[in-house]
Amino acid sequence: MPRQVIRVGTLLTMDSQFHVHRPGTIILQDGRIREVLAGVESDPSDAQVLDWSDRVVMPGLVNAHTHTPMVLFRGLAEGHSLLTLDGWYNAIRSWEHFLTPEMIAPAVAVSCAEMVRTGTTCFADHYFFMDRIVPVVEQSGLRAALAYGIVELGDAQAGARALQETMTFLQQLRDHPRLGGWIGPHAFFVDNAAETMQAELELADQFKTGLHIHLATSGEEDEYCRRHFGRTAVQQMKTLGALDRRMLAAHCLTIPPQDFSTLAAAPFTAVMAPSACMRAGAAAAPLKAMRHAGINTALGTDNVANNNSYDLFQEMRILGKLMSFREQEPTAIPARDIVEMATLGGARALGLEREIGSLEPGKRADLIALDANAMGWTPRAAQDPYTALVYAVSGLDVRDAMVDGKFLLRDGKLESLDYREACVSLEAAYAELRARRDFEIENGANNVRVSI
Ligand SMILES: [Zn+2]
Repeated sequence: MPRQVIRVGTLLTMDSQFHVHRPGTIILQDGRIREVLAGVESDPSDAQVLDWSDRVVMPGLVNAHTHTPMVLFRGLAEGHSLLTLDGWYNAIRSWEHFLTPEMIAPAVAVSCAEMVRTGTTCFADHYFFMDRIVPVVEQSGLRAALAYGIVELGDAQAGARALQETMTFLQQLRDHPRLGGWIGPHAFFVDNAAETMQAELELADQFKTGLHIHLATSGEEDEYCRRHFGRTAVQQMKTLGALDRRMLAAHCLTIPPQDFSTLAAAPFTAVMAPSACMRAGAAAAPLKAMRHAGINTALGTDNVANNNSYDLFQEMRILGKLMSFREQEPTAIPARDIVEMATLGGARALGLEREIGSLEPGKRADLIALDANAMGWTPRAAQDPYTALVYAVSGLDVRDAMVDGKFLLRDGKLESLDYREACVSLEAAYAELRARRDFEIENGANNVRVSI
């Protein structure tokens, strides 16, 4: 691939010195960043030159927690908290009974397209039907950590089946250049039983991968672990050796402060998904204290049934405001830290911090470019670029997105996916889902709304 020289109006590197070059130049070759320079580099004759003097360029965002097929349920979780086992079961599980494998691909295509369009270049997914998810993510060009969801809910056979499927899936994704296979227990203790958890930890060792779970969404695990083991869920996880493995834990709303140092010492990331939590009426996570204790933190949208958007710029904004509101303190989490969570924090969570998350020589060319003339940037002298990114602009201001130096979005147009076509297919899939569920209800099935 020829060298690409990109001249940029504003270049946010997110390197260890947080260099911002105005203007700057970034040189790409063979999918990687070769050079990052302050000022305008002159043209080497063999290079393609892109003029992005009207763009703000930054690392692509990492959505560290989502469930792409669940865009099929967008709008169906109103009035439910998906952060309690009971609420999730009644609002989501009762629909999942009626999913067919054919419904998955259009949903994943819509999700991937919405992520690319709003500046995400890497995401951590958590679901089943991975055989249907993988081909669409491959086509999308996105980078991803795909966790095979393991939902047991007291059914040991279901757990065993999911473990077997997880193993096959991990074998298939071994050595994939852009996709990593992860293990996705829905939740420890309150869903996955001790034997299943043990098998999951062994699988993580065998495939040198991590676990993507939901943790401390409502205090249910702590209650369970205190009752059964006389200690908190985090301490019980430590006893089991679960914290020796890389772990991505969504939400972490109710972690007791005495457990923070244990998590800071582990290869553990607390993933914030503030929209989902706020819409569920849940507590705000003690993010400031967790970061102060040294816990790695990242940002995700969660499923869009209760968000209901993939726009991580919106998510950054909501997180900043929620944390100031929680702490009763202006700028409780500085804007630059929030951008760092959505870039390097996510990269660290996935063990990819040497490859992505900042724009530095040697790293992969995963980057996005925003329209510097869009609403919200002015006056530039007053507003630092991190503040503008978090509080003033929108994911729809993203004009270009690249993974490995390949355009997934070019001048606002998706290059790898047909969003309109995917939306039409998703509407048809939803109509079928609804019809299957209605048929079951009319025929007297009683498993549609079951309180557990
Ligand atoms: Zn989730």
